[in-house]
Parts: sequence; C-alpha cells; structure tokens
Amino acid sequence: MHYDPNNIFAKILEGKIPCHKVYEDDAVLSFMDIMPRSPGHLLVIPKTPARNLLDIAPDDLAATIRRVQLIALAAKKALGAEGITLQQFSEAAGGQEVFHLHFHILPRWEGVRLAAPHPPQADHKVLAEQAAKIRAVLEGQS
Ligand code: AMP
Repeated sequence: MHYDPNNIFAKILEGKIPCHKVYEDDAVLSFMDIMPRSPGHLLVIPKTPARNLLDIAPDDLAATIRRVQLIALAAKKALGAEGITLQQFSEAAGGQEVFHLHFHILPRWEGVRLAAPHPPQADHKVLAEQAAKIRAVLEGQS
C-alpha cells in the first residue's frame, strides 16, 4: 500500500482542482463533499500525504482529529443540526474510494436518513452557501 500523489484530493490540496473550502491551516484542509449524503456533508483531510488511517503518523492523526472536532462543532451550529455522523473508510475493502485520508462530517437531524452512497452532485450554489455559513462560525471563534 503506497500513497499515490495523483489522487483527486492531492490535486485539491495543490489548488489544481477547485473546492468549496470550509477551513484551512498548516495541518488540514476542509471542504464540502460534492456528493453529499446529508445537507452540509463535508470532508477534512490532512496536508501530510497519508493514504488512510492505517499509515498516517500518530501525531498527524492527532492534529487532524482535533480539527475534525472543531469543524464538526462549527458545522452543527452553522446548519442547526441535531447531531453529527463521522465516517472514515480505509482501503477499498473498507469502502475507501479516494486514497488520501479523509474524515466525513455528516450533519444529522432526528428522523432524517442519510442518502444512499453516490447521490447526484449537489448544486454548487448550495454548497457555496453552506461552506460560507460554516466559515462564518469558525471565523467568529478565532
Ligand atoms: P470515500 O473514499 O469512500 O470516503 O469517498 C470519497 C468521497 O469523496 C465521496 O463522498 C465523494 O463524494 C467525495 N468526492 C470525490 N471527489 C470530490 C471532489 N472533487 N470534491 C469533493 N468531494 C469529492
């Protein structure tokens, strides 16, 4: 198992592919998932080139998960969610499709089921609005 630097999230990190950015610092980048399984579904990826949970250095994982909590709290507040589902898939057998480590943050509401995997691409205007709301909460905290 090795890290393939041509994966799509590496290209987003390099700025070669656009994203609806939610948060960025020295350790992570966070952006909206373009095929959201719940309203506000977003991703957090480390900047370090890790394939998944199984090869990242523990200190880099710790830095990443601290940001996951920060962004999950902001997403919950910004979108008025009642809960959060956190998902992480490692290796194809574990459900991973993009081979740069990422955590899914899925805002949740009572009685609202997650969409099935591979829903249609979301409206970019909606993704941009959701990202702006979450960024506003995060910026209000800094
Ligand atoms: P998985 O590797 O199974 O955790 O799934 C990869 C996730 O990345 C899926 O939820 C996709 O919708 C999402 N995804 C793929 N390409 C992009 C992209 N260009 N921008 C944002 N999300 C993406």
